Amino acid sequence: MKTLADAFHHTLKDIYYAENALTKALPKMAKAAPTTELKKAFDDHLEDTKEQIKILKKVFATIDAKPEGEKCDAIEGLIKEGESVMEEASGKALGAALIGAAQAVEHYEIARYGTLRQWAKELKNEEGHELLTQILDMEKAANAKLTGIAVTEA
Ligand code: FE
Ligand code: ZN
Ligand code: FE
Ligand code: FE
Repeated sequence: MKTLADAFHHTLKDIYYAENALTKALPKMAKAAPTTELKKAFDDHLEDTKEQIKILKKVFATIDAKPEGEKCDAIEGLIKEGESVMEEASGKALGAALIGAAQAVEHYEIARYGTLRQWAKELKNEEGHELLTQILDMEKAANAKLTGIAVTEA
């Protein structure tokens, strides 16, 4: 990895791996959610995530690369943390802890997409910039929704 274009391609593979991993983690979180509101938030974000994977495929196309993932240790760790929360927490703590775990994921994604879309701009990849901004906005909305649920359920 030597150029900004290399870093862009590498990070795109990282987040593509992460989104695919989340399509498996989100149904488990929805299943564990103690309220219908939180369950719906996870179910809805699973649909967002499937859409995001489609958008990411278009971003790969803007750099003539095939969509592929590369193991992201950060998302593996965040998902693992979410799983231990589901095992350890119960009652009132479960919902709060699940929201906390999910928001850690959203913040990770917001960081990645913020970086990627800026790099797209620097690389004069206008289409990539727009597609990544679409996903970034979805992640920010998901994070805000979780904050809203946390505040109303507290
Ligand atoms: Fe996502
Ligand atoms: Zn890597
Ligand atoms: Fe990563
Ligand atoms: Fe997300």
